[in-house]
Amino acid sequence: MFDYIIIGAGFAGSVLAERLASRQKRLLVIDKRRHIGGNCYDCFDEHGVLIHQYGPHLFHTDNKAVFDYLGQFTEWRNYQHHVLAFIDGQNVPAPFNLNAIEQLFPKVLAETLTAKLMSIYGYGKKVPILELRQHEDADLKFLADFIYDKLFVNYTAKQWGLKPEEIAGEVTARVPVHVSRDNRYFQDRYQAVPKHGYTKIFENLLKSPNINVMLQTEFKSVMDFDTESGALRLFGSPFKGELIYTGMIDELFDYRFGELPYRSLRFDFEHHSVEQFQATTTVNYPNDYDYTRITEFKHINAQKIAGTTVVKEFPQAFDRHDAGKDIPYYPIFTDANAKKYTQYQEYAEQFKNITLVGRLAENRYYDMDDMVARALQLFNDKW
Ligand code: FAD
Ligand code: UDP
Repeated sequence: MFDYIIIGAGFAGSVLAERLASRQKRLLVIDKRRHIGGNCYDCFDEHGVLIHQYGPHLFHTDNKAVFDYLGQFTEWRNYQHHVLAFIDGQNVPAPFNLNAIEQLFPKVLAETLTAKLMSIYGYGKKVPILELRQHEDADLKFLADFIYDKLFVNYTAKQWGLKPEEIAGEVTARVPVHVSRDNRYFQDRYQAVPKHGYTKIFENLLKSPNINVMLQTEFKSVMDFDTESGALRLFGSPFKGELIYTGMIDELFDYRFGELPYRSLRFDFEHHSVEQFQATTTVNYPNDYDYTRITEFKHINAQKIAGTTVVKEFPQAFDRHDAGKDIPYYPIFTDANAKKYTQYQEYAEQFKNITLVGRLAENRYYDMDDMVARALQLFNDKW
């Protein structure tokens, strides 16, 4: 009946479903949630504010092909993301930049630090904090230690339960020190949000009559996967088509090499009867409180509406047996975990009828645009 079964209706699963359906393949998309869109799902809350249920999602890319592809499924509203970080009682731009230096340090010191950064790295350069800390110049060492202590150490401890140097360098390098006065969080060429929300994109991706979507369905409740032979059964009958899996790789293989670690989050939404809660969409709290950041949704969608809704993000350990902690928002990117993941990946390679794709299945820190690019590339290479 179906040529493909896709587990997960996030960007990985939905883009592949759209592409395969365009080739007249018949597909069943299964997701355990009550909705499509995966972590990018958004909806209107009871106050009429368009919120992101699983944390703030801001689209940014330098990849024109991805921007154009998604543009077939949504109109865009130009939006440039700004983040402030609450440091020493002040809200300063994040990523940390020359404006943050000017705001936080006495004039003479700020001038010295700025001149040093400009002469050593050059204007516009982005320097990962762990790299800046290696510098031997005394002034830069002072600055690097300051940024490390005030922006990274405690935020990273909250977010990952680890020190910055205990996770893959690419994680903290996502928010480099920026030798610039550009206060935007990203510098990508295309920055926008879907005019009618992300969920609409997914409705459009999945609207082909060739695609059947089954929600609120844990895939193992309708499928059997023999992790020795690779044999698949759907609703009790042998399934001869292909499986595209976007969930946790360790779950797919019944944890045969042990559990991979993930990080979960608790989102506390609050509605306030004020026009505006904070000056920018997101304010990070590296050192204060137990949450990492507060996001005010109105800024993203420029909604003209009374009152405002914000969300506070409380990182927590992932626990698949605990209903409040069982969403694996992030794989934890350490060397030990990468090694364990590789064991799963190598084992998976023998099953030619199974494709692993997605943040969890591939253990990668994909942003939305990376995910779409990866799915499109996979489709072109494989099918
Ligand atoms: P997901 O969206 O997680 O989709 C996987 C789907 O599979 C889920 O719906 C899940 O329910 C389903 N599933 C898993 N296991 C099973 C099972 N056993 N049975 C049935 N269904 C199953 N990217 C950006 O570009 N910009 C941002 O600002 C941004 N902010 C983010 C903020 C947060 C807090 C997080 C967690 C991510 C953010 N991202 C952002 C990244 C973005 O969410 C991912 O790139 C994208 O969601 C990856 O898509 P995916 O399909 O791999 O995963
Ligand atoms: N980070 C930090 N302080 C900040 C912002 C980010 O220490 O104010 C670190 C932290 O380790 C975080 C990583 O940089 O996990 C990546 O941040 P990003 O904002 O990209 O995280 P995401 O939005 O993906 O959760």
